[in-house]
Formats: sequence, C-alpha cells, structure tokens
Amino acid sequence: MDAFAEDHEQMTVRQDSNTGLKAIIAIHSTRLGPAAGGCRRWRYPDTASAVTDALRLSKSMTYKNALAGLPFGGGKSVILADAQPITEAQLEVLGEWIEALHGRYVVAEDVGMRVADMHVVRRRTRYVSGLGLNGIGGDPSPKTALGVYRGIEVAVRHRLGRNDLGGLTVAIQGLGNVGFQLAKRLHRAGAQLRVADLNSKQVARVVEQFKATPVAVDDILFQDVDVVAPCALGAIVNKTSVEHIKAPIIAGSANNQLSTASVGVRLRERGVLYAPDYVINAGGVISVAHEYLGGEDPSWVGQRIDAIGSLLSEIFVTAEREKSATQAIAERMAEAVLNAPVPSLEIVA
Ligand code: NAD
Repeated sequence: MDAFAEDHEQMTVRQDSNTGLKAIIAIHSTRLGPAAGGCRRWRYPDTASAVTDALRLSKSMTYKNALAGLPFGGGKSVILADAQPITEAQLEVLGEWIEALHGRYVVAEDVGMRVADMHVVRRRTRYVSGLGLNGIGGDPSPKTALGVYRGIEVAVRHRLGRNDLGGLTVAIQGLGNVGFQLAKRLHRAGAQLRVADLNSKQVARVVEQFKATPVAVDDILFQDVDVVAPCALGAIVNKTSVEHIKAPIIAGSANNQLSTASVGVRLRERGVLYAPDYVINAGGVISVAHEYLGGEDPSWVGQRIDAIGSLLSEIFVTAEREKSATQAIAERMAEAVLNAPVPSLEIVA
C-alpha cells in the first residue's frame, strides 16, 4: 500500500536494539482529535506486511471513530512479534515511543495485547486506555462483542426478516477475546454455532461451553449458515473467497475484512449483506474513549453501542436504495463526518 495514496499524517517504524522491540505507529488522521487505535502484536512475515497492516488499520480507525461520533482521529500501532512472549522492557519502550508523540496517538488493546500489557505501557506514557482503573472501561472486547451482536440482530432483521436469533446458525471464525464473548451471547440467544480457530484450546472451550460444532479453519467462511462472523484477522473476503460464501450475511468484529473495495461490490451482487467492519466493531473503542475521557457513566457507552445498530440499519437501507455496496455507503458517511466542520470536544458525563 502506498502511504501517500491514503493520506496518512505520520508513520514511524522503530527498533530498539536493547530489548529487540520492533514496532510501527501509524497516524492516519488527527482531524477529529488524537489518533486512537489499539496495538496489535502479530507474527508478520516481514516488515512490509506489518507496515501495510498498520496503514490499513489506522485508516479504518479514522472512519470508525468518526462514525461512532467520538472526538478522536485514527491511528494504530503494530508490534512485529517473534516466538517469545512480549517482555515488560519492550512494553515500556513502546510506552516511551508513544509518549514521544505528545498525545497525537492514544493506545489500547488489540490482537495479541492484554489489559496487563497496557498497565506496563502506562509506566512510560499517559496516552493509554483500556486499563480498567476504578472499574471503568478495561478490556474492550466484551463491548466490541456486544456491538457485533447488536449488528447481527439488525442484519438478520434486514436480510432475513427475523426479529430474533433463536434457531439461526452462525459460523464464527476466531474465538479469541471478541469471538468467545460473541459466541457466549449468541448461544444465550439460542443460535447454533459453528466455530474455528487456529488454536485448538479456544475451539474446545467454545464447543464445551456453548455446544458449538467445530469446523476446519479453511472451511469456516464457506459454511451454509445464516451468518458468518469473522472475528480473526483481516482481508479474509478476497476475490477468490467471495465466490464461495454461502451465508446471506457477513457480520463480525475483524478489522479490514474485505481485501479490496471491489469485493464489497461483488458481495452485493451475490446477495450477501455485509456489515462494514469499522461500523459494527466500534463497541470497544467507544468504551476505550469513554475511559480515556474520564467518563463515569456506563450508560454513555451502552447508548453509543446501541446506536451501532441504528447506523447499520441506515447503511443497509441506503445501500439497497442506491444499489451500492454497504462498505461504499459507510465510507461516504465517514468522509462526510470528516469533511464537516470539526465539532467541539464532547463533555462526557
Ligand atoms: P484475539 O487475538 O483475542 O483473537 C483472535 C483469534 O483469531 C485468535 O484466537 C487466533 O488464534 C484466531 N485466528 C487467527 N487467524 C485465524 C484463522 N485464519 N482462522 C481461525 N482463527 C484464527 O483478537 P480479538 O481481540 O478477539 O480481535 C479479533 C478481531 O476483531 C481482530 O481483527 C481485531 O482487530 C478486531 N477487533 C477487536 C476489538 C477488541 O475489542 N478486541 C475491537 C475492534 C476490532
């Protein structure tokens, strides 16, 4: 990906010879406020792949925060993992690098990072959230899962004309922090689950607790189910896989699910309703933003997560009326927010 084609404000690639930490911090936009976005730790094949991921993810954060009505821009950090667990010394260095940006970037958890890691990062920077101090905020995953659940409800109503999820079949790809919480909610609602994860322990836990049916990792997206919920990594719907999707709905937490915009158009042509990722998965950043802004009212978070459903509904209806891809409609709406006069900072209750 060409960084300049995407108009990123800043990208830093840094390496610390003492601890071995290698990370990228990408700031796509600070137009609406500090660039907020989680830190992902993953074993990338090379630095170029990590850079591409950081650029794509940070741009999605700009759209996500804009559409969620948050006074934040979009950014993301990416750590190039090796076979060893991350060390406290590495997390402290990450904190120093974030502090050196003087608040232009605010970090929280993403794939491969835990609340405890954010507490270590906090030793070196104040620009961190997802800490859960005084019982506020903390791990964003349950809030993300709640937003995805609300989004699935809306998508099912729109595409299948059903008001409840009882008896529906949902295939979940990825049973980590978000996928597990989503499985729990769907099971409680009476949905039948098919599940896959690279980690067999995650699968066993969900099979045992939620009576899910395990499916091979390579087959999970192509199940004949009502909903496919991608909750692992991005770019899983590409020009090959899109032709084999059988479910009428794709709605999950993974960031950047579509490899290109044209895949979104193809989904529409094939009658698959796609819930744009940066709309449906905003629950976590809503919680992280509330915590960072010093909010103390959980209903503020709940109301905004409920609003994910209304926004998705608007996107689905508009896309249908205009015969457009849902992703294109979401992007247009996000650009409209970004191009509007910048609102004053919201006071959080
Ligand atoms: P996680 O690391 O806890 O879980 C990801 C899971 O996906 C892991 O169990 C991993 O083994 C599995 N996985 C990876 N590749 C896979 C594959 N090809 N097939 C099957 N399983 C695979 O991450 P998470 O926090 O649950 O996040 C999941 C997705 O949701 C990510 O794309 C993340 O960026 C996105 N997201 C998360 C949050 C949040 O609050 N955690 C918020 C917004 C978006």
